[in-house]
Amino acid sequence: MRNYYTAIQFWSYSLLVVCLCPLAVFLGAYMNWPLGIAPLLLLAPPTVLAAVSSPRVCYWTITVISVSSCFAEIFFRPDLEEVRSTYPLSIMSAAVLIGLVMLIDLYMGKLRRKLSQLHQQNDELVRQLYETQKQSIADASKSTIAELKEKQTSESKDNTSAESGVNYPLLLLTLQDIGRRISTNQSNESLIPTVISTAKASLQCESCQIYLWDTKSRTLKNALPARARDQLDYRPAANHGVAAWVIEHRQIVMRNDADQDYRLKRIIEEDAQMPDAIAPLTVGSELIGLLIIDKIDVESPTIGRLIYILSNIYALGIKNSQLFKRIEEMASRDGLTGLYNHATFQEKLHELVKNAEAQSTNLSIIMSDIDHFKSFNDTYGHQAGDFVLKEVARIWKTVMPENAVLARYGGEEFIGVLLDHEYSQARQIAEDLRETLENCPILFEGQQLQVTASFGVTEYRHPATNTKDLVRAADEYLYKAKEGGRNQVVGLDSNTTRKPGTQAS
Ligand code: GH3
Ligand code: MG
Ligand code: MG
Repeated sequence: MRNYYTAIQFWSYSLLVVCLCPLAVFLGAYMNWPLGIAPLLLLAPPTVLAAVSSPRVCYWTITVISVSSCFAEIFFRPDLEEVRSTYPLSIMSAAVLIGLVMLIDLYMGKLRRKLSQLHQQNDELVRQLYETQKQSIADASKSTIAELKEKQTSESKDNTSAESGVNYPLLLLTLQDIGRRISTNQSNESLIPTVISTAKASLQCESCQIYLWDTKSRTLKNALPARARDQLDYRPAANHGVAAWVIEHRQIVMRNDADQDYRLKRIIEEDAQMPDAIAPLTVGSELIGLLIIDKIDVESPTIGRLIYILSNIYALGIKNSQLFKRIEEMASRDGLTGLYNHATFQEKLHELVKNAEAQSTNLSIIMSDIDHFKSFNDTYGHQAGDFVLKEVARIWKTVMPENAVLARYGGEEFIGVLLDHEYSQARQIAEDLRETLENCPILFEGQQLQVTASFGVTEYRHPATNTKDLVRAADEYLYKAKEGGRNQVVGLDSNTTRKPGTQAS
């Protein structure tokens, strides 16, 4: 930035001085002045200005141009004969210019040195001030901590204290713990139980539940399964009762708040099962859910503030884990079909094979490739091709069992892992897939499109005993299906290759 500024300054002064040179010659001739007077009058101001305001290299260059113009005048003045005798004045003008610039240079150097001294003194003063402040803050906090300790000791002795319901050390640990969990991107499944247990411990309440808000359906859903949550008869509803008030006003409502607002009083009275407190879990203006707390010391003057602090931290933690889950989900799925992508499939297959090995269960694989898809694209266009890929993925999701792991293995290749399915069952499912594809025309922009696919089916341990061999075997059978004429299923019992239209054996 500074360099740009300097360059602009330099070029502007130079341009000005260069433009003034012919003007000086013209003025000198027109006014019939002795040599050197016009350049001195016209060029001294910009040269001095440059010397005051620009860097050294810049003003000395400009001085050289100005000095040159003093001498240039000797060659360009048409009235040269009359003024020739005055040419020592040119030398004097040049000397005056150089002298002026040297004086300024000297003065500016002194000024700069003085300024840098002042800066140094200023820095030192600021540093000293900072040190003094730091010391006084440290002293103040030491005395505050000592006072607090003293206060806490006296409070712990005096059980009648109003603050006795709050466990401060535990609360601090809670905040630290939640902060740590937020930064480690825990999944909601492990974060929610921690949130609940830490809330119960720090607020000293008997029950605590978290309901998550679904923005699309505008409903609340308990974050934990029924067996894992605290017993509480209260079910918050998004459209009536206290929960609806909390959602609308994004305010904590406590049972003893009834006196503060006559409308709230009526709502609380109507909501007979209202727990001791309901707090909104929000991040900015976004509602994440509700924190439902029961059996707390509602009379404690700090309990509302504590719930407020905790609910803010919890909301941030939950939001963070939700975002992390969504990002993970996006990274693991294929954007077009929504099925797992190749990399995620490999990971999942490793896990599934390990489980199948450990638990001695069946595991089969179906791999398929759409027939002549390149020429399909050439005929109908890539958009139609993309639409067909989406539809094929949808057919896979519909035909395959719910617990099957499906992926888009490559461009128009799909793969599915069937858990607890032996080869014959897997083959039957592959046949269903093939038939569905063959018999279900796909409607795209008013056209009925149709594709077929070839399938390779194999089963773990027959003979493949690792993921690599398993996928390779399925791929080989798929290749055989292509060789055999496409639109067919080939598998372990490849002798009994089933051609389209034949019945299952
Ligand atoms: P074969 O029956 O032997 O499988 O013939 P094919 O033309 O399907 O085989 P090939 O593997 O040579 O061609 C695959 C084609 O799939 C090439 C490409 O045009 C198309 N394809 C791959 N990915 C996409 C995609 O994301 N969208 C669309 N529209 N086409 C894709
Ligand atoms: Mg193909
Ligand atoms: Mg292919």
